[in-house]
Amino acid sequence: MSEGRELLIRAIKNGIVIDHIPSEKVFAIVEILKLKEYSERITVATNMPSSSLGRKGIIKIEEKILEEKELNNIALLAPNVTINIIEDYKVIEKTKLDRLDKVIGLMKCDNPKCISNHENIETKFIRVKEGSENSNENNLEEKTEYKCFYCEKIILEDEIQIQ
Ligand SMILES: [Zn+2]
Repeated sequence: MSEGRELLIRAIKNGIVIDHIPSEKVFAIVEILKLKEYSERITVATNMPSSSLGRKGIIKIEEKILEEKELNNIALLAPNVTINIIEDYKVIEKTKLDRLDKVIGLMKCDNPKCISNHENIETKFIRVKEGSENSNENNLEEKTEYKCFYCEKIILEDEIQIQ
C-alpha cells in the first residue's frame, strides 16, 4: 500500500482500531458502542477495498478501551473482526475475535412467549451451528445459529437483536 493511500485514514495516537468489519456491519457497531455520544475523535470508514471480504469497514476510536461486554457484542454482530490496541501510534495488541459459544445477557429472544421476555432473567443462547466466515443472504446453509436456552427458538446470525 502506498503512503498516499495510508493517509486516507489518519493514524491515531491512543485508542483502538476495529478492522476487517464487513461493510454492512459497520453502522451496527457504531450503534452498539454508542459512538454517537462519544466525545473523542472517531473515524468511520466503510466500503474500503479488501482482498478477503470484498469490501470492509474500519472504525478508529481515540482514547477508547473496550469493555468485555462491548467486545462480546462486537463478536456477536461481526465475528472475525480484528481489534488493534494502539498506544503512542503503535499497535501493541492485535486480536482477532471469535464467535461466542454461549451468549448471555446480550441478545433478545424474538419469541414473544419466551420466559426471558416476561421474567427478569438474563437471556441465554447456545451456538448450535457454526456458519462460514463470509456468509451472505443467498447462502442459508452457511449461517451461524443460536438456540435460546429457555424456549429453544433458533436465531440466525443476521436476525440478532442486541439488548
Ligand atoms: Zn427464548
